Amino acid sequence: MNTADGNSIRNILNSYSLTETKDWRKADIIFLVTCSIRQQAEDKVSGWGIKSQNKDFNDKTVILTGCMAQRYDRENNQISEKYKKTLLRKHPWITHIINIKEIDQLPKILNIDDSDQINTQSINYDINNKYQGLFSTSHGCDNFCSYCIVPYARGELINLPKKQILENINNFISNDGKIVTLLGQNVNSWEDESRNFIDLLKEVEKIDGEFWINFLSSHPKDFSNELIDLITTHEKFLKHCNIAVQSGSDRILNLMNRRYKAQTFIDICDQIKAKDPLFRITTDAIVGFPTETDDDFNKTINLVKKCEVEMVYIGKYSQRKGTVASKMTDNVSLSIKKKREKILRECVNEIRERKHKQLLNKSIPVLMIEPNKGISYYNHEVITEKKYKPGKIYNLEVNGYSRSGLKC
Ligand code: SF4
Repeated sequence: MNTADGNSIRNILNSYSLTETKDWRKADIIFLVTCSIRQQAEDKVSGWGIKSQNKDFNDKTVILTGCMAQRYDRENNQISEKYKKTLLRKHPWITHIINIKEIDQLPKILNIDDSDQINTQSINYDINNKYQGLFSTSHGCDNFCSYCIVPYARGELINLPKKQILENINNFISNDGKIVTLLGQNVNSWEDESRNFIDLLKEVEKIDGEFWINFLSSHPKDFSNELIDLITTHEKFLKHCNIAVQSGSDRILNLMNRRYKAQTFIDICDQIKAKDPLFRITTDAIVGFPTETDDDFNKTINLVKKCEVEMVYIGKYSQRKGTVASKMTDNVSLSIKKKREKILRECVNEIRERKHKQLLNKSIPVLMIEPNKGISYYNHEVITEKKYKPGKIYNLEVNGYSRSGLKC
């Protein structure tokens, strides 16, 4: 989400012919697109600001945006002014705090003259290559998982209109875009009037051109049979999905307020694999949630093994002030959290290596993004011996593998 937000900022400023520099010391305007998922992420931003402010900031404009920049006052359905004032008091080196939803106001905030605008097209290109596009479908979240700050930081779920999403994707495809990734905190709950996420995917699929579609991140409670049918049987969908399970223990899932049972996730995976055994499943999991026992943790391990999950984004639980879980005692020690993280990582690495090995000598479609580097139809990173034309899809034989990807 932050990469996509960063790209929106980039597109707006590029359209006013402002030049980007990667060295913030040379910049007149600095953007901090922040994360709030853990206290550590916020501390990093504060630490950077304190370290840099006296010697290097001079007259720079320092703009804070993203999750750390806002807390929603849900009662009055607006950004909390009190929180904003506290932030500015605590971090006097910040010159502006901007809600990411108001990013189109940037030229006004920065006093940029409208006549300087050279291009009004807004395309969400990925930061590194023009073939992968990230497209936000919504802001905020109403799920209130007990450990998560997003519903308070980003506010209520607001779905972007279908027309706007499709316009961006159309632009991207007509500019040689090849992988469309739809983004949302809970992407498969997207709706616009009477249209649901399946309708949106079908509309994207109808766009002319050779390209692949995927989406992040999926919540098991919203993963319908219709969605499974679509992604496993229609050609334009990448054969990979990240479905956030968080835990294999129903007791912990209940404490997390996730509103599904572990069996729901297992059933989704079984149905997907029955349709396409090569389909890759990855997930997110939290280890060391309050009261998590060895038995609860072993249920996560068993689930990952049963579903042959090939990668897990692991979060060691840490308290976030303002969430429901922050009122629970964080009673799992850091050393146990680290130990569980290591066990889970090793378990998944072993599954991934085994799954990669099964692809040896098989031919798979690969989209080249550099002469020797590509992305497979199953969303593996691929390194090739021979050089190929970037932007083209080739059928390549797998002749080697590592834990991180395939060699063709
Ligand atoms: S679905 Fe849960 S974890 Fe994901 S953003 Fe919403 S509240 Fe947070």
